[in-house]
Parts: sequence; structure tokens; C-alpha cells
Amino acid sequence: MLYAQVIVDVPTMQTNRPYTYAVPEELVSLVHPGMRCVVPFGRGTRKVQGFIVALTEQMPSTEFQLKELESLMDLTPVLNEEGLKLADWMAEYTFSFKIACLQTMLPNLMRAGYEKKVKLLDLNVAPHLKQLFDQNQLLDFEVLTQNRQLQKEIAQLQKKGQATLIYQVKNRAKAKKVTYIKSKITPENKDMYAAKLRKNASKKQALLESLLKVTHPVLKTAFEKQNGFTAADLKQAYTAGWLDFSEQEAYRDPLAQSHIKPSLPKKLTAEQAQCVSQVTQALKQGSSQPFLLEGVTGSGKTEVYLQIIAHALAMGRQALMLVPEIALTPQIVQRVKSRFGNQVALLHSGLSAGERYDEWRRIEQGQASVVVGARSAIFAPLKKLGVIIMDEEHEASYKQDDMPRYHTRDVALWRSRYHHCPVVLGSATPSLESRARAQKGVYQGLFLTKRINGQTLPDVLLVDMREAAKRSPTPDFSLELLDKIKRHLARKEQVVLMLNRRGYSSFMMCRECGYVLKCPNCDISLTLHMDTHRMKCHYCGHEEAIPYVCAQCHSKKIKYYGTGTQKVQAQLAELLPEARVLRMDVDTTRKKGAHERILKAFGQKEADILLGTQMIAKGLDFPDVTLVGVLNADTSLSLPDFRSSEKTFQLLTQVSGRAGRANKAGEVVIQSYNPDNYAIQLACRHDYERFYAYEMQLRHQLGYPPYYFTIQLTASYDNEAQAKKKMYSLRAELEKVLSPKAIILGPTPQTVVKVNKRYYYQLVIKYKKEAQLEAYLKDLLLKSQAEERSGLKLVINRDPLSFM
Ligand code: ADP
Ligand code: ZN
Ligand code: ZN
Repeated sequence: MLYAQVIVDVPTMQTNRPYTYAVPEELVSLVHPGMRCVVPFGRGTRKVQGFIVALTEQMPSTEFQLKELESLMDLTPVLNEEGLKLADWMAEYTFSFKIACLQTMLPNLMRAGYEKKVKLLDLNVAPHLKQLFDQNQLLDFEVLTQNRQLQKEIAQLQKKGQATLIYQVKNRAKAKKVTYIKSKITPENKDMYAAKLRKNASKKQALLESLLKVTHPVLKTAFEKQNGFTAADLKQAYTAGWLDFSEQEAYRDPLAQSHIKPSLPKKLTAEQAQCVSQVTQALKQGSSQPFLLEGVTGSGKTEVYLQIIAHALAMGRQALMLVPEIALTPQIVQRVKSRFGNQVALLHSGLSAGERYDEWRRIEQGQASVVVGARSAIFAPLKKLGVIIMDEEHEASYKQDDMPRYHTRDVALWRSRYHHCPVVLGSATPSLESRARAQKGVYQGLFLTKRINGQTLPDVLLVDMREAAKRSPTPDFSLELLDKIKRHLARKEQVVLMLNRRGYSSFMMCRECGYVLKCPNCDISLTLHMDTHRMKCHYCGHEEAIPYVCAQCHSKKIKYYGTGTQKVQAQLAELLPEARVLRMDVDTTRKKGAHERILKAFGQKEADILLGTQMIAKGLDFPDVTLVGVLNADTSLSLPDFRSSEKTFQLLTQVSGRAGRANKAGEVVIQSYNPDNYAIQLACRHDYERFYAYEMQLRHQLGYPPYYFTIQLTASYDNEAQAKKKMYSLRAELEKVLSPKAIILGPTPQTVVKVNKRYYYQLVIKYKKEAQLEAYLKDLLLKSQAEERSGLKLVINRDPLSFM
């Protein structure tokens, strides 16, 4: 007898222990760990989905009558042994439910809401199988779950590459769908229908004739256009039984194969060669050594990555290259594609669910040996991993905010141990955690200290805005910055300007009574957007009209405070009417491909100034950009977060690094109201090492990472008092669990206490070693499910990157 261990998906009743099910005789030869299945659950007739994580032949010791596996949802496993083990580790490490970990490794398309079909790829199969498929060579997977013999035969087809599983969107308004028409008119029945028509119904006659010519399903819109019919005509024809409609997911465009010129490996500088050789040595030895590549901006880190990847491929291994979503610009993708061509698979949020699934399949079947992608690409099912590269390793977007709250770096290190392959973490401004590990020798340090082409790092002018703003005609531009912009533009060079706030004004206040217009759902002021003439909440998306009288005192003295990218764009239009400005922020990049279009236009010098939020700080490599201006360096400094200096330093260094990357020298102007702040001062001097030393001292004094570990607990309710109460009771419990050496901060309301009508309270545990803590939190995770029905949401977050 065979038994399956199944992790079931039962909301609010999750457990990380598998349930045992008996495998019915007919499924024995089909079942495999890593497949999804349907099983009966609980006392009634409830059916739930699950993952088979193991098979055993031993009868488990139980008095209960074991239930049987109901059906298999896959023909072949969707997760291999590595994936199953990774899920085990991730659930433990990130205090997550195993089911969430398993699901997170699969493309969205394979989760709920999609219809599964088998597609026949080879028509040369046994007739009794072939006849199951419709004229599109498709078969509902449902048919198989009802007939296990068939499922077995189809599974064999898939193994031989004669059939494959595909997913089609079901009831999803968002997905792009197209309607096909299938004609029911044949030479045999045409006259019968024609006889029923009135003599003068010439349009209907014509439609009948046209439908007769339709021998296979055609696109409805195309049919209408070509033959001059309207949707109403077709609807009537449908009612008359002349045709059928069918909806299909729009055809997935394979990645638009733009013309990318192949590139050859560059001759490495001595420093670059040194980095490549150290990593390839580890690669050859099958060592899972992590490396930290600390290279100043423009030092040629990407070329180092590419040549390491080439070595891995030459050894018959595969490579995974991770980049932050925001930096996943066409530039980096093109650089990888131009070197490795069709071997590259791409995984990022800009792809449709279908495109992502297609890329995932290519990887799974070994057709792609280089994967480039953002956070979730870390789960790419590469079987022969030779190297993992994580560019801009300090980026906060590498940490996932929802369960499982994993950090990509931790998963990368886990996979490298599994595959015995090196990991390269790269950055101009490594996270303090990583830099400290390199200090201790846990990571091996690699350094690129010079820019390519012998360019020095750009000169930085720090402008004290407390003084400069008084002299300037506009509040947001100092005369110094304006003057430099004019001079660089006169030389036909390009300028990048960064301002860390989108919209027009950051808030609206009544000057009579001080009333500030806030979001009704969140505890945050609404931002004025001039382009759409709306007030918007940047947390929940709430929008409303721009008020002209105060809601509180009815005064008309309403004023808008603060500056956003839209307002700066308007100022630029006045100050420098000749300059062509492109704006890049969340609002201008919402449409698919917008990001690419803006950068392409800027690269082709269709604009002089690129103005944007921090999304322009990273990865851009434009040779004609010689001036970078930071309009307000302080926005990230004032965040109530112990990492605010680190974040400020990183951001300023990154954005400064956009200037002077080719053979023209670059300049940077940083405007600040806190010019004495050490993070700003040291960023101006490009002095990462001194910043590291100084910041480490502070962290040591204050007891923060990397000296202490942190875990954040957050409770949210739709009732503020209850959220607070829950946190106080947790604190009391924790005091019993923790040793006196651990420190509990809070409970405190989060910076924005109310978001989307819920109230958030948090507490932070700082500790070095706590014997009881892990077990307590795991238990807390399970117990908190019971309270979820009453509206409580509890979040356990290990090593949080944000304390907002
Ligand atoms: P980083 O990622 O460190 O900021 P990049 O990899 O973008 O730097 O390199 C900066 C520029 O130098 C790029 O235009 C790149 O093509 C070029 N480059 C890199 N390595 C070399 C090399 N060995 N020889 C010539 N040019 C190089
Ligand atoms: Zn008022
Ligand atoms: Zn809101």
C-alpha cells in the first residue's frame, strides 16, 4: 500500500504538518511527490487542494480509517525535490505556512482561477486518445480526473513530449480575452436556413453566405470588419443558431524580439579579471562560497557578472541573475540578451501571467540556461545551477512583504548550498549586514575601486537650502543648480533630476483653520495630482475631487504645500522653456512598456532632462548624462527607521553614479536642508567605507542590526483599541518567553496607523540568541489563525526592512 503525505490548503486552519492519505490502486503508478492533488478534508464531504510532499509505504499508526487521495491535479510534478526542501526551510525560517511557500514558487497562472487543458502537440498518437481532443487539440483536464486510466496514458504522452498542460484564464475580467466565432452553417443546412428568411433580408443572406465560408473558428472582430457586419448582426445570427461564440485568452506574444545586437565579452580591467577569476575558481571547485562584490558606480560590475555567467555556461551549468524590479530596465536585460541570446529567460512583473508561465516552462524544461528576473525569479526551476548573481543586493525590494516574508538573499544562499555553487552579491553600497559578513570572512570580498575608462567619480556640490532657498526665485531650485543645468544643456549634454515625491503637492491645508485634507481610509494626507485634477491617497488609491473650500470652516483660503514631480515639471517649463523634459514616476509608468519607452526616448536624446522619483536612481547607463541634481536629499532622512541614514546614503550614491559614466566627466548637485548630516556628507564624498564604519558604531551603540537580530510583530484590526490591546498582551507573553538580554520595543502605532480602514500596531524584538523564541513564534502563527475570523491580522516578520 502507498501513502501520500499532503500539505492541504485550508484557510484559517493551516498546519505545517502533512496529512496522510491512502493512494488508490489506479493512481499508484501516476503519483509523485511535488504534484498537486485534491483530497477530502474534515468530517463532511469537503474537498480541498494540496501538495504531495512525500510518499511512504509504511502504514502510519492511526486508529482512524485513512481517507483516499481523490485525484491528481498534475500530470508531472510541478515542484522537484529541491523545491519541496526549500519550502520546508522557508516555512520554518520565515514563520510561514508551508502551503504559502509551496504556492509562491509556482507562476501565478498555475494557481486558482485558471482552467487547465491538455494540449496535444503530436497528432501521431493512438486514435482513442486523439479523438479526445477538440479541433484546437485541447482537452479539459477535468475529463482526466474522472478517468484514471486515461490520465495515465496522457501522462505518458506528456513524458514523451507529445502533449503538454496549458492554463487558460477562467472568469477573469482583467485578462485580455478575444471572441472567436464558429460557424454552424454547412452546405447541407444552408438552404434550410435561407428558406426561413424573408425575400428582402439581403444582409442576412450575405451573412449566411459569409458564414458558409468559415470553416474554422475566426476572430469575431476580424470577421465583422472584413465582411461589413456589426456585432448586432452576429448576435442575431447566434440566436438563430447559425454560429457559436467562444472566448479565448488573447494570444500571448512571445517576448517582442527587438533587434538586439550581439555583444562580445569586453577585455577586462585587472580588477575585473581578478573578480571573475576568484568566482570561477569557486565555480570549478563546486564551492558554495558567497562573494560580496563591492564596486563603485560605473566600475563595470555587469561585465563581471556576464563573464562569470559565461564560465558557468561553458561548464554546462546554468546561471540565475537577480536584479531589483525597479532596475529591471531594458538596459540590463539587453546587455544580458545581447551576450547570451535565446538562452535567456526573463521573469518580471511586466510580463502577463501567460508570458511568465511560458518562460517558467522553458526554464523547467531546460531550454533556458540564463534566467534574469526580480525577486520571485529566485525560485526559477533551474536544475543545474552554476552561479547565482544578485545585483544591487542592498535593495529593499528583495524582501517580500507578504507571506512568505522571505529575503531573496537568504533563499539565494540556501540554493547555492543545495547546488554547491557560488553566489555573488553585488553593490556600490552594500547593506551593512552583508558588508559586516564580508568583514568577518563569511563572505569573500571582491572590490572594484575604479571607474572604467579612468573616469573619476563625479564632483558633488552640496547646496545648503536653508540659505539658498532665500536667494532663489523658486523654492525647489537653487541658483547653483539652475546655473549648472543651463551650462550642461548648452553643451548638449543630458541632465537627470531626482525628487522623491510624485504628484504635484504633498498636501492641502486650509490657512484659516489648519485643516488638512486626509484620506478617509488611511491616516495620511491626500496628494494633489494636477494632470488628472484629483486628490489621491498614495497608500490605498482613494481619489477625490480637488476641494475649493475648506470642509471644516468653508474658507476659500486653501493652499497646497510641498513639491512633487508634477510641480517641478511645471517649474522647469517656466524656468527653462527650451528644455525638453521627460518625467518618470509611478504615474507616468503605469502602462505596460511605459518605463521602456521613456528610457528609450531619453537614450535617443529626444529629451534633455529626465526628471523622476527614485526609480531613476538605479541601473541607468547613459553616456551623455553629465549632471545629476537631487532636489531634496532629506525626504528619506526623516523616516522613523533606524535604516534611514543607510537608505539616504545608498540613494544619493546610486543617483550620483548616473553622471559621467562614459568619457565625459560628471557633476552632481545635492540640495539639502540638513547639509551637516553624516550620511549626506559622506555620500557627497563617495566614501562608503567611512560611512560603513560610522554607521556600524551607531548600530552597535543603539543595539540594531547587524549587531542584533530583529523580529517585528504587527497586529491590525478595524478597531484601534483592539489592535493596541492585542499587542500589549503579546508583549506580556513575550516577557515570559524571552531572556533578560532581549529587548522589546513597543507596542507603538505604525507611522501611518490607519491604512485602508485598518489600524496597525507593532512591536519589535531585538535579540542575539533566544532559545524559546522560535518555538513561541511558530506556535503564535498557528494560534493566530483562530482570531482571524474575528478580524485580527497578525504578521510575524523576521529581519524586517521597513518599520513604517
Ligand atoms: P556598474 O554596474 O558597476 O555601475 P557597468 O557595468 O554599467 O557599471 O559599466 C559601466 C560602463 O563601462 C558600461 O557602459 C560598460 O559597458 C562599460 N564597461 C564595463 N567593463 C568594461 C571593460 N572591461 N572595457 C570597456 N568598457 C567596459
Ligand atoms: Zn478651514
Ligand atoms: Zn488611503
